[in-house]
Amino acid sequence: MASLPTLVRATAPKIARSALQRRAIHSDVHITRTGKPILRTAGGRSSLGGHTATVFGATGQLGRYIVNRLARQGCTVVVPYREEMAKRHLKVTGDLGRVVFMEYDLHNTQSIEESVRHSDVVYNLIGRNYPTKNFSLADVHIEGTERIAEAVAKYNVDRFIHVSSYNANPQSASEFYATKGYGEKMARDIFPETTIVRPAPMFGFEDKLLLRLASITNLFTANNMQETYWPVHVIDVGEALEKIMFDDNTASQTFELYGPRQYSTAEIAELVDREIYKKRRHINMPKALLKPAAGLLNRFIWWDIMSADEVEREFHDQVIDETAKTFKDLGMEPSDISKWTYHYLKGFRSSAYYDLPPATEREMREEKKYIHVLD
Ligand code: NDP
Repeated sequence: MASLPTLVRATAPKIARSALQRRAIHSDVHITRTGKPILRTAGGRSSLGGHTATVFGATGQLGRYIVNRLARQGCTVVVPYREEMAKRHLKVTGDLGRVVFMEYDLHNTQSIEESVRHSDVVYNLIGRNYPTKNFSLADVHIEGTERIAEAVAKYNVDRFIHVSSYNANPQSASEFYATKGYGEKMARDIFPETTIVRPAPMFGFEDKLLLRLASITNLFTANNMQETYWPVHVIDVGEALEKIMFDDNTASQTFELYGPRQYSTAEIAELVDREIYKKRRHINMPKALLKPAAGLLNRFIWWDIMSADEVEREFHDQVIDETAKTFKDLGMEPSDISKWTYHYLKGFRSSAYYDLPPATEREMREEKKYIHVLD
């Protein structure tokens, strides 16, 4: 039988070799567009993602789905924020120290530069549906984009992924779509490698689509809910944003991210009413009345109720740019809103229905329906 030192000598190189092989399988060196080496090592929550990404607008609906995806694979995510409470939930999306918060202001160029200077990817998710006291839509979508793109160009950041909107068009009669269109142009003029992402109306837990239709009792509209679009799942958009970052061929490309089916708001309202077992009151008003009323309301009430431009947007159907890339180019199959209404709306179900069988004879006689909320 071989002595212990002989055994150690014989097996040590083998162990070292297999450890090396193991590392070789899980580690990868990636070279960025501008030639920076990025070391990536898989290791669960303590993985080393290698990339440093800044996500502007991370405190919104979409933000959490991209911050989570990057931080959980060990990328360092810089989250510029304005309000302490709005960013708390993002801290736990990655290992300790992976999510770094930086206070910033969209008017303050220095704070923007400090947020991007260490990053190799910058996402701009900033957007507003309505003007606020200190920011017009142009301030947010054009000037804000200009400042961010200039900082990206100044610090030679590898990738800039700018989230715009469906129907973004400088010539649009809607101020939102027009400013988003100018914002795209601004980003491309300053940093031609900008990847532009135009999501369709997004649905999810904190959305402005299902939630809006399910939570208010009186729904005011001007176009009888006839506007049409291809609603997209926010989680799909988050996944697409991640894929875009890892594929340098997507630099300078434009993506239109939309769902598989076209719906009108009326059709979605019907899906919602069916799912929550309630009938929402729908009041249609003439545009000439509702638009100025919403504009006036928006001047005095600073939270999101309805703005004049949102009324205008009801008269614009989603137009798909056929030249743009889609989910298919990223190898993805987007999911349809009708498969998700139960998931997102079960909390809105009417309390007039039980999820238990009838308990008394009277209930049995009255044939009270019950529905299961478990799947
Ligand atoms: P949200 O409205 O949920 O979030 C917007 C983000 O922008 C927040 O982080 C907000 O920060 C930030 N922001 C807004 N105004 C300012 C400002 N003046 N200064 C600094 N930050 C500001 O948007 P979503 O997550 O739903 O959407 C992400 C992007 O996609 C946006 O650009 C939006 O326009 C676009 N989009 C969204 C669609 C949708 O259906 N949701 C459809 C088409 C496009 P804070 O939390 O501090 O207010």
